[in-house]
Amino acid sequence: MDLIKAKEALKKYFGYEQFRPMQAEVIQAVYDKKDVVVLMPTGGGKSICFQIPAVTLPGTCIVISPLIALMKDQVEGLKSNGIAAAYMNSSLDTIEARAIENDLMRQKIDLLYVSPEKAVSSDFSTLLKNIQVNMIAIDEAHCISAWGHDFRPEYTQLKFLRQQFSQIPIIALTATADKLTRKDIEQQLAFKNPERFIASFDRPNLSLSIRPARGRLDAILQFIRTRPNQSGIIYCLSRKSTEDLATKLNRNGIKAAFYHAGLSNTMRSDVQEDFINDNVPIICATIAFGMGIDKSNVRWVIHYNLPKNIESYYQEIGRAGRDGAKADTLLFYSYNDVRILRDILNGNESVNNDVQLAKLERMQQYADSLICRRKILLNYFSENTEGNCGNCDICKNPPQHFDGTVVSQKALSAIYRTKEKIGIQLLIDILRGSKRKEIIERKYHLIKTYGIGAEYSALDWQQFLQQMINLGLIEIAYDNYNILKLTPGAHEVLFKKRKVNLVRMTSILERRSQQKAKPQPKTQRERLRDELFEQLRQLRKQIAQKKGIPPYLIFSDASLEEMAARRPTSAEDFLDISGVGQKKLYDFGKLFMKKIEQYIISKSNSGVKIKGSTYLITYNLYKEGISPEDIAVKRGIHSSTIYSHLIHLYEKGEDINIEQYISKRDLNSIKELYKKNSKITPKEIFDYNEGNLEYYMIRIGLSILKKGKLYS
Ligand code: ADP
Ligand code: ZN
Repeated sequence: MDLIKAKEALKKYFGYEQFRPMQAEVIQAVYDKKDVVVLMPTGGGKSICFQIPAVTLPGTCIVISPLIALMKDQVEGLKSNGIAAAYMNSSLDTIEARAIENDLMRQKIDLLYVSPEKAVSSDFSTLLKNIQVNMIAIDEAHCISAWGHDFRPEYTQLKFLRQQFSQIPIIALTATADKLTRKDIEQQLAFKNPERFIASFDRPNLSLSIRPARGRLDAILQFIRTRPNQSGIIYCLSRKSTEDLATKLNRNGIKAAFYHAGLSNTMRSDVQEDFINDNVPIICATIAFGMGIDKSNVRWVIHYNLPKNIESYYQEIGRAGRDGAKADTLLFYSYNDVRILRDILNGNESVNNDVQLAKLERMQQYADSLICRRKILLNYFSENTEGNCGNCDICKNPPQHFDGTVVSQKALSAIYRTKEKIGIQLLIDILRGSKRKEIIERKYHLIKTYGIGAEYSALDWQQFLQQMINLGLIEIAYDNYNILKLTPGAHEVLFKKRKVNLVRMTSILERRSQQKAKPQPKTQRERLRDELFEQLRQLRKQIAQKKGIPPYLIFSDASLEEMAARRPTSAEDFLDISGVGQKKLYDFGKLFMKKIEQYIISKSNSGVKIKGSTYLITYNLYKEGISPEDIAVKRGIHSSTIYSHLIHLYEKGEDINIEQYISKRDLNSIKELYKKNSKITPKEIFDYNEGNLEYYMIRIGLSILKKGKLYS
């Protein structure tokens, strides 16, 4: 088996033009019958690594996957691409299981998904003896390791597969595995000289942003309102805050539900289904949400609270943009969260606290950082990158350095004068001259530094104070209500003329309000694209509902976006859209192209100049049986233009009987010349005929001859 076949299958079944990094190499290794370990980030495209060998090799690929809830979706997804797939787990009844067994014996199934329990059962082992297995894929392979975070004891029994099938390749795939876990996977599965593939963990389509937690509800409302109809997840630290936040969003007219481990099983699966099926676009959830979800069109992830470490953070934001289309992530950061997380860790004796606390500190450093966020993340996963990413808040809004001595003195002096008894929020309010009750009651409005920092926004102050903490001028007493304490460094600034260098980030808020002042109007092109996208999205939803499968299994957002931008109206152009394979063209092509056609024509009828409309209008009149001359009259354009439309459509493979417009004699005379010189131009033919043959006729002739050549 070779990679050319693999690439053909990628196009035919999945509608993709190219392999992603490492996919081709992994597939080659499987063809070479090697054992393989694949480490790729969520959304990296692990499945293709075994699905392509499975459809190109004779026999059946056994896929072991621990997430029963996901199996159905995965199998539906494969079927919708025209691939014979099935699953076996405890949810099947005997009749269903029998039917699948029959199909397996008759070699009618390319991929069989099984739960680990099923895989190690004795009846399955008997079944395996009677079918031709071409490879075994072990998904979420980190479950095999007691070192990993998701240990499944049944996984450790999978070793028998290596013994039973000593000749076929086994491929183990995971998105989360450190060196130790990786070694464990190889040992547990008794791999012989495995090939290891470790892909980059970068997810360039995810934007990264961090904002102070203050005022986050408003920020979230604004964020959601600029992204209508998009699916997103908001992760909260506590069960209660998921409920509160969902309620607040609902009150503001935004459809959202909540999800946490305290809900009943039915409620949880209802919420999950609603999310997957695009019935409820937004879920406020604890981190329990997302594990069993393969939804590829999650367009954003917000962290309402600081995650406890970078691994969790990266896994959670990784649930956005699996389809590879642009997706946004936003993290709200407050010292209060750091305190709460510390308290949780300190109260939990069973975990290795020092390690966890150190991880929390790394998370905090990430949030505080003033250099490209992606650099820090990738560094954390031991990947070095050159250059900045251009898709994080720091890159988009680079910090500006300035002499922050006076600014620092103002803040430090306020801490000093309040006798080191206040936290960050109160300090900011004092500096900005807030009249809130606590300030008046504690008489802080009477101190000398009250209101001396009003020229900066609260967000600016938050950022300045963060930097002063990082510079060691202020300490936070985590054990004492997070109040701020002055360090010896602070005394140097206050009394010994020490200079302080700070950076000012033009705050995202400020930028937003500037944008509001002069809103960037969408271009006509963007408006048309967004409008059509929305119509296609609704069509997708209708079809999904009818078929009882999630919308993203019909087409990904990425495919819809491409359709909306390129507006394909012929089978050939439609197949060119990434994610459209043969089966999907056959099943859905007509419906989607019709919608696109209707859109183009209705726009053009209402006077909007839209590319492709003129051909479409001609084509539709042609299909009604109207002659080119009459179409010309109807449309008020010259008939030679109509002929050129028809030639264009004909060349694009549309069903146009172009031969009827040219006589045998004329075609033959063009053919004579063409045979002598296939590069002959219309002008040369025109001149040769001394103007007796019209240009459009010559073009028709050449078009027919060229096509003929193509097919002969
Ligand atoms: P993982 O299992 O690693 O999280 P998936 O296998 O689910 O990732 O793939 C993520 C998304 O990327 C899917 O929508 C998949 O169809 C798409 N994808 C995979 N390979 C390619 C490719 N070569 N070209 C375009 N899209 C791809
Ligand atoms: Zn960056």
